[in-house]
Amino acid sequence: MDSLPSIAPSLEAAMGQGYHANARLVLGSLLDDITPDEISGCVEAAYADNFDTPAVTPVTPMGADWLLELHHGPTSAFKDIALQMLPQLMRVAREGTDERVMIVCATSGDTGKAALAGFADVAGCGVTVFYPAGKVSDIQRLQMVTQPGANVNVCAVEGTFDDCQTAVKRTFADTALAMRLAKDGVVLSSANSINVGRLVPQVTYYLDAYAQLSRRGTVTLGDPVDFFVPTGNFGDVLAGYYAKRMGLPVGRLVVASNSNDVLYDFISTGTYDRRRPFVKTISPSMDILVSSNLERLLFYLSDGDCELVASLMSDLDEKGSYTVPPSILERLHETFSAGRATDEQTAEAIRSTWEGDHVLLDPHTAVAKHVLDGDDGEAPRVCLSTASPFKFSADVLRALGEDAPADGFACMDALAGLSGLTPPSGLSSLRDAEVRFSDVVATDGLEAYVESACARTFA
Ligand SMILES: *Cc1c(COP(=O)(O)O)cnc(C)c1O
Repeated sequence: MDSLPSIAPSLEAAMGQGYHANARLVLGSLLDDITPDEISGCVEAAYADNFDTPAVTPVTPMGADWLLELHHGPTSAFKDIALQMLPQLMRVAREGTDERVMIVCATSGDTGKAALAGFADVAGCGVTVFYPAGKVSDIQRLQMVTQPGANVNVCAVEGTFDDCQTAVKRTFADTALAMRLAKDGVVLSSANSINVGRLVPQVTYYLDAYAQLSRRGTVTLGDPVDFFVPTGNFGDVLAGYYAKRMGLPVGRLVVASNSNDVLYDFISTGTYDRRRPFVKTISPSMDILVSSNLERLLFYLSDGDCELVASLMSDLDEKGSYTVPPSILERLHETFSAGRATDEQTAEAIRSTWEGDHVLLDPHTAVAKHVLDGDDGEAPRVCLSTASPFKFSADVLRALGEDAPADGFACMDALAGLSGLTPPSGLSSLRDAEVRFSDVVATDGLEAYVESACARTFA
């Protein structure tokens, strides 16, 4: 996808369409080796029954602003939008081959479960997920280790998410391993947000949110809309940039960081420096110091200057930092700005939004809400809501000034009682689910785990 196609001629029609039609429009524009019938089949399979609202990603009022709810899928986080679709796209791409694919992914908490849910029992596929031991929420861990399916594998890693991601990349680069697996007709594939099959489905909800605002009379086609995006690996917000490059009237894309504020510093100064302490926050899915998707943004900002991008990436590898030329920083600032929130500010945003607007936010969404509250933009403002608050019940309870019981389900009950809201069934049903996985490996143990997972899965 060296250049992005324009959807401008279809925008007027898109304003009157629902999510499925807009998904067909976006996928059809970006994926040119798949037929309209195949696309319809994929959209139907991914979004018809698996989301708990027909709108798929409803836009709802939050005070004078808007919340784009991306957590209505089976795992209650926005990663479902992409990871319900990715297995469908892979199914179509693999039709007629008998190659077997092991999806391997590193997760900071939400991607893993979404990948497991998307790929469980998909014919010809296996899925192996690595998460940082002790660095995901109780509920996130249970979601993963109770995943049913004959082709799923889940393992904890002694290290941070960045360690997991680095070790997974090393596994992909292990040619000896690849050759051994190839003998059995097995290939490894990534489900991390660097996979373009994950980015493409996410472009849809920017378009669809704009269409919803248009139908509500909040915007007239052509008016800018600003999006506030809680950011970790830069996949979600990059999809917004794709939408803009494709012709959607996106105003600003505001990147919201937690205390791992490497992106905030980058957007403010043009220098990306991962040499800093890793902070464990109450928004763990954003506890990331190396944002893999930034490389793609640099590619587009430099009009495809591969040489420049490669030299920046090698600086990052060798020195732990890079600085973009002033011309690139200027282009970056045409669309992007940044803000950040500490855990205290995040908790305060949860409390004030609940008390002021009667909207209950999860800690990731609240990072973006804090940034939105400190912003004085004129355009309609949309805050992306990336997870259900019940996925992080303990921290949400504490933010509301309540005591959090030690048990994750007691927290969920307390939050339900306090808010009058019902937890998503995929979370409350974990209570009785059987734990299937308890493996833990060191960071140099991933290759061996993947090899044994392939043997188990494709035996
Ligand atoms: C993954 C995730 C994010 C960050 O998204 P990126 O695409 O990595 O920037 C934010 N919130 C939640 C709940 C997530 O799971």
